[in-house]
Amino acid sequence: MAGSGEEVVESCVFCLIANDRDKTTTIIKKTKELVCFRDINPAAPHHYLVVPIQHIVSCHALHKGHIGLVERMSEFGKAVLREQGIADMNDIRLGFHQPPYTSVNHLHLHVLAPSSQILEYLDHKFIPKSDRFVTDKRLLKHLKRNDPLVKGFKRKGENSEGTSSGISR
Ligand SMILES: [Zn+2]
Ligand SMILES: [Zn+2]
Repeated sequence: MAGSGEEVVESCVFCLIANDRDKTTTIIKKTKELVCFRDINPAAPHHYLVVPIQHIVSCHALHKGHIGLVERMSEFGKAVLREQGIADMNDIRLGFHQPPYTSVNHLHLHVLAPSSQILEYLDHKFIPKSDRFVTDKRLLKHLKRNDPLVKGFKRKGENSEGTSSGISR
């Protein structure tokens, strides 16, 4: 099984990692659908990324049909934390960055623990109620209600995935 049939975007580093084509990244855990590896700039003692092997640009490309995927990503992230010895599941932080605050345009869930030990100078990137960072729970709520994440953000009829040129605020 080589993940055939999945679209690999050659210029996307997370596509390469997810398809085992980046030799510098160690995959910690993998299923047919998801992979997990360490964030290259860890903001906490444990900081992992969960990405779907399938190339999805960002959380703005998600809709109701992705609820199961987001739930599985979140469960997968928690499973990795447990395997890495994290016991206090209340002291963790899970979430997605929203464009234009995404560094790589391939959907990835940030999994951080313990959340009480997130580095101060990086904490602003992971504030749960900010526009920049959307927790898994908040994203699921929006998907279930079919609500755009950011007020004024146009999701309907937007086909230009990969460009963020429509975003002015
Ligand atoms: Zn990709
Ligand atoms: Zn990110």
